[in-house]
Formats: sequence, structure tokens, C-alpha cells
Amino acid sequence: MARDTSPQCKQCRREGQKLFLKGQRCLTDKCGVERRSYPPGDHGRGRLRQSEYRTQLREKQKARRYYQVLEKQFRAYYDKASRQDGITGENLLRLLERRLDNVVVRLGFAASRRQARQLVRHGHWLVNGRRVDIPSYQVKAEDVITIRAESSAAETIRAATALTSSVPAWLQADHDALTAKVLRLPERSDIDAPVEEQLIVELYSK
Ligand code: SF4
Repeated sequence: MARDTSPQCKQCRREGQKLFLKGQRCLTDKCGVERRSYPPGDHGRGRLRQSEYRTQLREKQKARRYYQVLEKQFRAYYDKASRQDGITGENLLRLLERRLDNVVVRLGFAASRRQARQLVRHGHWLVNGRRVDIPSYQVKAEDVITIRAESSAAETIRAATALTSSVPAWLQADHDALTAKVLRLPERSDIDAPVEEQLIVELYSK
């Protein structure tokens, strides 16, 4: 499956803010944004022309990078969100938030989305007792997430839990047993992604 392999700190620097893509390193003074708070590239320190389109485009790219989703898949989420009842931007964020790789991060079971995705792909997680190795799997209310018995990643996952002291209200995690439950679907207020979703809707509505 295609994935974005570009350097993650450069992705944050391009968006001008920390997207927390590298786990513990993001909390240290080795963070790329802390060290070089200007966009990457030869013209990174030049003056950028601002426009409405550029603002909307950057917001979409930021959301895509935050959730580590490629353009085609992101557009598919948008199309699905626009067909759902309710506010399209909020629907879009809810779809992204319900991805299994994101949920594993929110639960504190992985230090980054890249790590979460690898853990899911390698079959370390069960949903309702069945192995799910699809990072884009959409969790549902009442889903129970457990680590596979004999998983070789238990130590890695336990190390990640040390970085997370609380989980969002729509989820419940047991960091000792490495199990979790989806209590309900997320509301917009549960989602702390640094994204103004309305700008993305405006971009795609042009
Ligand atoms: Fe982004 Fe983390 Fe790199 Fe900082 S350390 S620039 S937050 S990926």
C-alpha cells in the first residue's frame, strides 16, 4: 500500500507547527520545528505570498499529514463526509478520527501514527476478537480492542503507554491489560486535531 515516506519533521516545518509525528522526540528540544521554525527548502526563509487558496490548501495538507493519509484517500473521506447528514467538515474529521491507526495512538498504544500503522499492519491488534490488519478500519461504538495473545510488540506498546496519561472521552483504555473499548463515536469537541476543517470544505467546494 502506498504511503508517504517524506521526512516527518519536514512535514511539520512545511505546515509551520508541530504535528507530533515522531512520538517521544516531538516532546524534546530535538524537535525540527523547535530547531528550525521556517519551511524546508532553499526558499524556506523567503517571504511567502498569502492567498485564500494557499491558506485552504495548507489546512488540507496539514490535516492529511496529521492523520498520515495520502491525497486520494483523503479525497475519498471528503466525498464520503459530504454524502453524510450533518456538517461535512465535522463528518470528515470524525471519519479520520475513527481510523484504527489513529485510535491506537489516541489510546496511548503507539507513540506515533506511523508506529500505530505498523502495529496494525503486522496484526498485533484484535477488534472484537478478530485480527484486523487494516489501518483505515473504522471503529464502531462498543468495539473492543485487544492485543493479540503472544504478540511480540507488547513491550513496545507498553513503552508507548508511558507517554499518554489520558485518553479521549469516547474511548476507554486499560494500559495494564492492553485492552480498550470504543464507548461511543467521537463528537467534534472530542477531537483535538489542529485543523480548521471549514477551510478544507471551502477548498474542495471550489
Ligand atoms: Fe514534528 Fe515531531 Fe519532528 Fe517536531 S519532532 S518537527 S513535532 S515530527
